[in-house]
Amino acid sequence: MQNRDIAEMLNRAAQVLALRGENRYRIRAYKKAAHAVASLDEDIKIIAAENRLQQVTGIGPALAAKIEEIIATGKLGLLERLETSRIPKEKNKNILLAAALTLANELVTKIEKLRGIKQVQVTGAVRRRQETVPGVELVVSAENVVLAQEALSTYPLLQRLSWENMVGRVVHSYGIEITLYLTREENFIPLLWKTTGSAGHVKKVMTRIKRKTGYDLNSPEFAKLQIGKEDDIYALADLMPIIPELREDRGEIEAAEPGKLPRVMEASDYKGDLHVHTNWSDGTASIEKMAAAAAELGYEYLAITDHSRSLKIARGLSLERLGEQKKYIEALQDKYKIRIFTGIEADILDDGSIDAPNEILAELDVVIASVHRGLNQDREKITERICRAMQNPYVQVIGHATGRLLGQRDPYDVDFEEVLRVAASTGTALEINSSPDRLDINDRMARQAKEAGIAVVINTDAHSQLELANIALGISVARRGWLEKKDVLNTYDKQQILTVLQQKKRR
Ligand SMILES: [Zn+2]
Ligand SMILES: [Zn+2]
Repeated sequence: MQNRDIAEMLNRAAQVLALRGENRYRIRAYKKAAHAVASLDEDIKIIAAENRLQQVTGIGPALAAKIEEIIATGKLGLLERLETSRIPKEKNKNILLAAALTLANELVTKIEKLRGIKQVQVTGAVRRRQETVPGVELVVSAENVVLAQEALSTYPLLQRLSWENMVGRVVHSYGIEITLYLTREENFIPLLWKTTGSAGHVKKVMTRIKRKTGYDLNSPEFAKLQIGKEDDIYALADLMPIIPELREDRGEIEAAEPGKLPRVMEASDYKGDLHVHTNWSDGTASIEKMAAAAAELGYEYLAITDHSRSLKIARGLSLERLGEQKKYIEALQDKYKIRIFTGIEADILDDGSIDAPNEILAELDVVIASVHRGLNQDREKITERICRAMQNPYVQVIGHATGRLLGQRDPYDVDFEEVLRVAASTGTALEINSSPDRLDINDRMARQAKEAGIAVVINTDAHSQLELANIALGISVARRGWLEKKDVLNTYDKQQILTVLQQKKRR
């Protein structure tokens, strides 16, 4: 068993605990240990054999015992218990998108292999990439639906499915409701379409189709049309195709009529992460590990933005260490094809000043400023702090601008209109932070920022190389916020982005 396998198992335990709504400190302990193991340069079995597990940052006594268990047995008892245990009394109402996606993709892979099943696809709020979702919904097609029902119930997880009109529901042992829409192959696309959009979206499009063609989506005539792809449905409504992320009835139908729908950015447009932490502050991976992982993702660049000096809890860098880090990165540069930008995530202090002198900030490629403390201050105070930070000519980006943690902490009370106004007038960008429990700013705010002419950057805020993958979540927020390639700075190449980021201080 490799470090990677052990990290994956611990990560999975963290996810399952999160899905069941367990204590967040316990979840965090598993997650931290997973990152620590994934970032190790040494074989964990040797570390364990030499009794050094607890010397690894991020591994405490409880998790050291779990790791020993995995090494000895190849399994994690906790995980097995959770996966087969009874359903928690209360169904989880709002699941994070990241967790729902993991479960949904797993189910798709497994159901696809069952006998007689033709197609399986994720639908509903998960397919629209809503930030939290009520459950996981799948559309499943089969030649013979009766046989398919039988095949599905041979799969242990789905044995307790209760069926009503070809809709099967079950509450998974993680506390998540799973809904299966079973249908014959020819109705797969119409059903996928109907279960994907918000109720408002679906109703409006159906009304248009009825008006233009006289057909109803549920009518036999409609079934005869042989809809081969969702675009055909929009064509019947005389509309441009609308991607799932936009099917919210937030003006997309009106925009699709005259062809004014934005061409939202694609994952392949993304060229590099501008906000990650390393083991110089509270991350678990070295700069080298982060750079190698970013290169593997095909990025052109990566900015190292560790915490600033006053954030002691996150081992913020002293000015001296920051200077050392800058030199270290510059010396390292030649070893990597991707460009490693120097940077900082500087704290916005209580009076709105930045936790590093301007002459230091001036030397860095990327400067992000974030609020980490004083989250309970009143609206006026906190708005003023952020706006004052944006007046600083070296602050290029405001990180996680509302401070929320989904399901744990409300956004701080900030006048976002005012933030937008000052961001626009000072030329400061706003971040979409892709941490699964942040997604901050959210889709609506991202759209407001775009409309106000403010540049957006999408970052992971990764604390280990594993978390670089979270970028998919941030990109879905941008897509839901109607952002096009030109609205997102991380779609620029390494020369362009430096020029744009450094523009502010030259104004
Ligand atoms: Zn932060
Ligand atoms: Zn950060």
